[in-house]
Amino acid sequence: MAKLTFLGSCREIGRSGFYLDEADEGILVDYGVKFQNRPAFPPPVPLDDLQAIAVTHAHLDHSGALPIPLTRSEASLFCTPATRDLTSVLLQDMYKISDGRLPFTRGDIARIRRQSQTTTYEETIPIGRRFEMTFFNAGHIPGSAMVSIRYNGKRILFTGDFNSSESRLNPGARKNLPKHDVVVTESTYARRVNPSRQTTEEELVQSVLETLERKGTVLIPAFAVGRSQEIMCILESYDILSKYPIYIDGMARKVNDILMKHPEYIGSPQAFARAVERTILIHDNRDRRDAASKRGIIISPAGMLKGGASHLYFKMLHDDPDNSIVLVSFQVPGTPGAELLATGKVAVGNKTYEVEADVRMHHLSSHSDSAGLLSLLENIPGDPEFYVVHGESESCDALAEQLDERGMTAHVPSTGEIVEV
Ligand SMILES: [Zn+2]
Repeated sequence: MAKLTFLGSCREIGRSGFYLDEADEGILVDYGVKFQNRPAFPPPVPLDDLQAIAVTHAHLDHSGALPIPLTRSEASLFCTPATRDLTSVLLQDMYKISDGRLPFTRGDIARIRRQSQTTTYEETIPIGRRFEMTFFNAGHIPGSAMVSIRYNGKRILFTGDFNSSESRLNPGARKNLPKHDVVVTESTYARRVNPSRQTTEEELVQSVLETLERKGTVLIPAFAVGRSQEIMCILESYDILSKYPIYIDGMARKVNDILMKHPEYIGSPQAFARAVERTILIHDNRDRRDAASKRGIIISPAGMLKGGASHLYFKMLHDDPDNSIVLVSFQVPGTPGAELLATGKVAVGNKTYEVEADVRMHHLSSHSDSAGLLSLLENIPGDPEFYVVHGESESCDALAEQLDERGMTAHVPSTGEIVEV
């Protein structure tokens, strides 16, 4: 029997980490951080037996602690080329904003690149004497993968974050997965039902066009990895970018460069390339003032108005009813974005602003909703046993219950729990 240790991501989002070991060989899958007041890391892994590390995708809640085991072992890091490049950029940014208060150095972050062995979807790689590993497209962000590990004639799947439906950016998670005995699944939106992608896209485009036609400026605060590029692809597909200027601020510029090098991970690479070509890059505050006056579209981090350049744009644009602030992701309670949606007022820095601009919300989820989760999971052959993680406590329970009602066996593990698989 192999042992599976849940290092984190149990009844919470963040700090994803799983350790699968048998006898004297082990594989670590994901090793992320959780951002509270300061970054929280998962517990250490036994390094002597570590054969390999696999990372499902670049988001820091899955990758943010990777330099720790990479520095202390010779283990190779298995990931897609897009994940390697995006993870390096995100970790460097995390280093920059944390003033060096991290358990690793800038040099340690370089190990992501040095120790990585990139892999493509569907390719099977032998690991040590006991394991084989295959990545499948997870459809969550470019380069994201589900990690399937074969051991002892059995197969375990770590879904990472996944989206079973197609978007403009991602072709959607691999359908018809092979037989598995154990599945460790995310449950982020197990309690949500998303409207169809097309409806959300059309509503977003409507909000953007209404603003532009009345000669306002559209501010879209968005995450740099995935969401910003998805919006670029949508606006390009609806032919808005040939008529109005689009400005990109923050790390999304670097992310665009990376994704242009890896078009194989993009659903419609031509639309993305056209959008990138039309994009005007922002370099400094003068560019920002200029962009705010040009009656176009500005995409800027952070996604929930939590900081970054979005604050500067917000201050320039909030008091004109012709402008709009278009939120495109779930706004976590307690963030400025959530406050703005609920009250029309928001504290930015040490001042509270009454907002005259039109505030809209169009949630372009990169996770499956409850129907999407179930449709992918219940179609995995082999009658697997499920372990539900990476969701708020209620979401983990909800998905486990739904799987249970369909006659499948599902558990909600606790952090630190070890099970035999
Ligand atoms: Zn993610």
